[in-house]
Amino acid sequence: MFQLENKTAIITGASRGIGKAITRQLAKSGAKVVCVSRHIEDIEKVANELRSDGFSAIAIAGDISDHESFANLVKKSIDEFNSVDILVNNAGITRDGLIMRMPEKDWDSVIETNLKGAFNGIKAVTRPMMKQRFGRIINISSVVGITGNAGQSNYSASKAGLIGLTKASAKELASRGITVNCVAPGYIETDMTSQLSDDVKNTLLKQIPLGRIGQGEEVAYLVQYLCSNEAGYITGQTFTIDGGMVMS
Ligand code: NDP
Repeated sequence: MFQLENKTAIITGASRGIGKAITRQLAKSGAKVVCVSRHIEDIEKVANELRSDGFSAIAIAGDISDHESFANLVKKSIDEFNSVDILVNNAGITRDGLIMRMPEKDWDSVIETNLKGAFNGIKAVTRPMMKQRFGRIINISSVVGITGNAGQSNYSASKAGLIGLTKASAKELASRGITVNCVAPGYIETDMTSQLSDDVKNTLLKQIPLGRIGQGEEVAYLVQYLCSNEAGYITGQTFTIDGGMVMS
């Protein structure tokens, strides 16, 4: 069940954290994986580890906020593996601060990476996925895209934008066999959350009914399912994975 043999998957932000866990899980499920981030040494390391475990993996450096860079890396992936079947728009950044003190560049860089980056990716894979009448696109949002968070107006807006982008692109692409879904993690143990102060971590933990921080692998299992043939009747949805933090 939920196997991904003969599928090529591009995962952005594959060098660490949630993206690295997703990349390994998709590779374990049989997918040929393309590891993407801005720093070639980091993703080469991930791809090498996967290859030495017997999986099919390559590394391509690229900046997702740059339209041409994303288009080029999709082209290179197709040259290498002959198709692109799965795109996981996972790469994301934070530049936290209260609105009244937030520099314009911090607003712009978060929107350009987290939201425009996903648009760039969807645009680049649409034509090849439409031709093959199959595709799975997963956008990694966040619970704060649903709830909002003080000090994260840029990040919350980008993550809420991803939910809208998911719905609109799901409607545009459904007739061609392409599904687009969104995964909204809560508090997951990665480099991004290791920067939080102990006070913030403890406050967050108190809001989690399951009483613990989540692991990248737990997000990866959900992404694997959404990428599979078995999930072919699900599109335009947002799935929270947060220990029960946000219940709707
Ligand atoms: P990390 O900060 O650990 O990793 C981010 C990844 O994105 C790195 O591989 C980084 O590599 C890459 N990246 C950043 N900017 C770019 C860019 N412009 N182009 C290409 N790659 C880029 O993040 P997490 O693993 O914690 O988070 C992954 C996703 O999950 C993000 O979208 C985040 O918003 C979301 N999320 C995380 C939560 C958490 O609790 N950790 C909670 C909810 C959502 P490099 O810098 O080398 O380019």
